[in-house]
Amino acid sequence: MTRFAPGDLVAVLTTQPLDRALDYRAPEGGCGVGDFVEVPLGPRKVLGVVWDEGIGSYDLSKVRAMNRVLDVAPMRDEMRQFLTRAAEYTLTPMPAMLRLATRSPGLGSDVSMRKVYARGGVEPDRITDARRRVLEALAEYGDLSFTLSELSEMAGVGSSVVKGLVKQGAVIERDTPRDAPYPRLDPDLPGKVLAGNQAGAADTLVRAVASGTYGTTMLRGVTGSGKTEVYLEAVAECLRQGRQALVLLPEIALTSEFLSRVEARFGAKPAEWHHGVTQTERRRCWRMVGEGAASLIVGARSALFLPFRDLGLVVVDEEHDTSYKQEDGVLYSARDMAVLRASICKAQVVLASATPSLETWANVEAGKYGALTLTSRFGDRAMPQMRAIDMRGEDLPGGRWVSPSLQAQIADRLERGEQSLLFLNRRGYAPVTLCRACGEMIACDHCDARMVEHRFLKRLVCHQCGETKPMPEVCPSCKVEGKLAAVGPGVERMAEEAAALFPDARVEVLSSDMYQSARALKARIEAIAAGDADIVVGTQLVAKGHNFPLLTLVGVIDADLGLQGSDLRAAERTFQLMRQVAGRAGRAERPGEAWLQTFQPEHHVIKSILSGDEDGFWAAEAAERKAAGVPPYGRMAGIVLSSPDMQAAFDLGNHLARIDGPLRRIGAVLYGPAPAPIARIRGRHRLRMLVKAEKSAPLQSAVSEWLAQVRVKGDIRLSVDIDPQSF
Ligand code: ADP
Ligand code: ZN
Repeated sequence: MTRFAPGDLVAVLTTQPLDRALDYRAPEGGCGVGDFVEVPLGPRKVLGVVWDEGIGSYDLSKVRAMNRVLDVAPMRDEMRQFLTRAAEYTLTPMPAMLRLATRSPGLGSDVSMRKVYARGGVEPDRITDARRRVLEALAEYGDLSFTLSELSEMAGVGSSVVKGLVKQGAVIERDTPRDAPYPRLDPDLPGKVLAGNQAGAADTLVRAVASGTYGTTMLRGVTGSGKTEVYLEAVAECLRQGRQALVLLPEIALTSEFLSRVEARFGAKPAEWHHGVTQTERRRCWRMVGEGAASLIVGARSALFLPFRDLGLVVVDEEHDTSYKQEDGVLYSARDMAVLRASICKAQVVLASATPSLETWANVEAGKYGALTLTSRFGDRAMPQMRAIDMRGEDLPGGRWVSPSLQAQIADRLERGEQSLLFLNRRGYAPVTLCRACGEMIACDHCDARMVEHRFLKRLVCHQCGETKPMPEVCPSCKVEGKLAAVGPGVERMAEEAAALFPDARVEVLSSDMYQSARALKARIEAIAAGDADIVVGTQLVAKGHNFPLLTLVGVIDADLGLQGSDLRAAERTFQLMRQVAGRAGRAERPGEAWLQTFQPEHHVIKSILSGDEDGFWAAEAAERKAAGVPPYGRMAGIVLSSPDMQAAFDLGNHLARIDGPLRRIGAVLYGPAPAPIARIRGRHRLRMLVKAEKSAPLQSAVSEWLAQVRVKGDIRLSVDIDPQSF
């Protein structure tokens, strides 16, 4: 790596919203490309990375000196290359990309200069309750060190208690954080004996990892077929090679169940990177990944931006999951970024799913990805039986949603002491609050969205901006009292109905907004899995990656819900979600059933869900997308213009539509500007434009050339989404 002598001119990329790297003088002791540094910017000190030689484009006498080089492993060439290519692909400015790669608490120059605290060798003279809590908190994390505020927060004491212990030597104060490496994982502990085609699939992956080259493989198999067991063998091989492995899970699937499986296989728990872990743990993870002292990381999508020293394998579990697409800030697909990162560092990618995305199918078809299929559930447990309940023939009073047929099924499970899941992808009590006097539906003041009643919170909530207000007594429009009525079902209302139908059953709602923290939610999921509920009413949260061994019935309240609207991906999503939810039933010794309430049992998507004819479904989907020329058989970019001033946004949009030469030159077609699917959020009007191009067209360069012709001024914001989720 290039070294610079003190005083040399170097270019530093900072995380500040600037459009380029800035020149600085190398500090005393010099620096090298990739070093994390602290540099002055105006009156502030900011974090940056030494990126290149300086360009010296402005007055050399004004170039300032860096403050210092931070005490962390420098950013590797591979990482700089990854960030550069990811920025090009997603049309994201480099500083925003760098921010993703520096999300470590303690990395910002301010935090890293704080003192940290660890256990000292001396016992305190007198032990109080508060002191004991501090020492226990430190004991729990072994050799980790904490900042003062972290430690007092963890122990639930004031900082003076910690200071008191420092004075006695029971706690010591250090200048730099020193984090403990993770326990070693042993790849050679005996794993499960793989059965049927599991062994062949594992073998293929193991050989791919051993080859030390890049490659991507789709690992497909119904829920319970043993995909996890199979990819853990690929992880084992990666560890044997002395390289690092990353397993990405949808955030909610990051439960202790998965960690325990890793521990059972490798003798120790992996490092974790997601919102549910403490700041201290994240800082430790970030540093140890960079030093190669963490060999297996289990994390959410942002873990892709950790500073791996030698990444050999990335598993994207439930690869079709929509939460892998980051929907604000930098708009990236974790699946695509995993492939990009792996191709740069010669690693293997495994895309595991029961219902792979059409994108992945297309890449298999094109010969870019390998494909492995596990054909049956482990131990030949049957896939749940899928059946339709034709709601047109059910006798159901208004304001009720559980059909007599479904009710009978639930009663049956209760009698046998088994669990039922009622699935409805709608948070809250009711999606609409209507005034029966004037017909007004209560909407958010800032968004083009209805307020959703949440009885548990006793408030109306906007699911777009999060704004809440108390449930009004009188209609905000006509001021008539007592006429507001809940219309339509949400999970809370379903739970009410279930409790009324089965007064003796333990009914529980599983929805993200019912819990204070991710940790509390996960704890609750584990308790329910252990049998602590009879009827679970849940949103798509429950569809993801957790085993409920006692669950034998899934009742889908409204299987038609996702099929409404014009989104071309609606069929794919519904198919995936329904198959995945159904897969929750019958995972243990007992067979499961999934009953779908529908008003259109003849709909081709509903029919494929019921028959399980995946190949037929994907073939039909692929044909439709090919005909429309949309992803994955064509390319798209979505541009959203937002502004408090609708006219200003329209003016810019119309102007952009007139100067679309760069798009036309690559044969792309531009649609819009038109109001976005949600036309106003947080008081900002939103317009969308869609660019559609052929698969082989250089979409990014054309879009950036096109957008470079305008300057986005005033209060308008423009965001570009390459490969948008909906179209
Ligand atoms: P998937 O990831 O496809 O949903 P899992 O790997 O979680 O499937 O397997 C489902 C269940 O079957 C798990 O409890 C797993 O431990 C068990 N299982 C799968 N394969 C084997 C095997 N070869 N030997 C023993 N248990 C297995
Ligand atoms: Zn709102």
